[in-house]
Amino acid sequence: MSQDLQDQRFLITGASRGIGLEIAVDLAHRGAKVAGLATRTANLAKTKIEVEAAGGSFLALEGDISQPETAQAAIDAVVSEWGGIEGLVANAGITRDNLLLRLTADDFDQVIQTNLSGAFHLLKAATKPMMRARTGRVVFIGSVVATTGNPGQANYCAAKAGLHGLARSAALELGSRGITVNVVAPGFIQTDMTDALTDEQRAAMADKIALGRPGTPGDIAGAVSFLLGPAGGYVTGQVLLVDGGLSLG
Ligand code: NAP
Repeated sequence: MSQDLQDQRFLITGASRGIGLEIAVDLAHRGAKVAGLATRTANLAKTKIEVEAAGGSFLALEGDISQPETAQAAIDAVVSEWGGIEGLVANAGITRDNLLLRLTADDFDQVIQTNLSGAFHLLKAATKPMMRARTGRVVFIGSVVATTGNPGQANYCAAKAGLHGLARSAALELGSRGITVNVVAPGFIQTDMTDALTDEQRAAMADKIALGRPGTPGDIAGAVSFLLGPAGGYVTGQVLLVDGGLSLG
């Protein structure tokens, strides 16, 4: 693999497993230094091993991204360790699914605070060092359901749709400083998150995918690395659907 991100410094939230783990390893293969955040440092043991095996440096960070102070502390830690930050991937996310009539205010708020407010706090904290350096790449991990909607996921769809608006506005504000902001919106990807679905739900979803298979975390990592790397430098304010054609109907 080409070392097109040699010594560049990235923070990936939700890096302990699934999509975030794969993004961290893909970046390491490209020569990057990777800081990974999860709710507990212990959860990042596998990521550390895989990033270092790929030749990258790894910094493990702990925090709950729904808490505003976590984002600033994480960016400060990366800047203090490595002197700056070229890229941020706001990937940490949760689901608390329920039909609207049964959806509690707490489940709504928790999903918004983790999936949307967490990304806002990270963007704000990362923007300062990126503006100083007059360069930066930000990728939010959205979802195909932000545009299609999904019964039982009003909270999750609202949060992910919010990321799309946040990315577009930030792209407009930050473009003149050399900072790009985009969303990668996965379809149905095999991770712990989708393992929680029933067999019927998984089969119904898989039936709608034009390419005839669920995605892998690697499918998403490739798209993220494109936006973070030299080839993605003129793309900003966009939502890149990586869904195997799921959203086509
Ligand atoms: P996952 O396997 O459930 O992993 C979630 C990651 O987020 C874990 O690393 C977890 O860390 C971290 N996390 C959760 N809550 C956190 C918090 N409050 N603070 C810090 N870290 C937190 O999920 P995934 O499937 O890889 O999904 C990754 C992203 O892709 C999410 O934003 C998800 O919404 C999005 N997405 C996934 C799919 C899919 O089909 N899988 C489709 C569309 C979009 P811990 O180890 O500490 O729990």
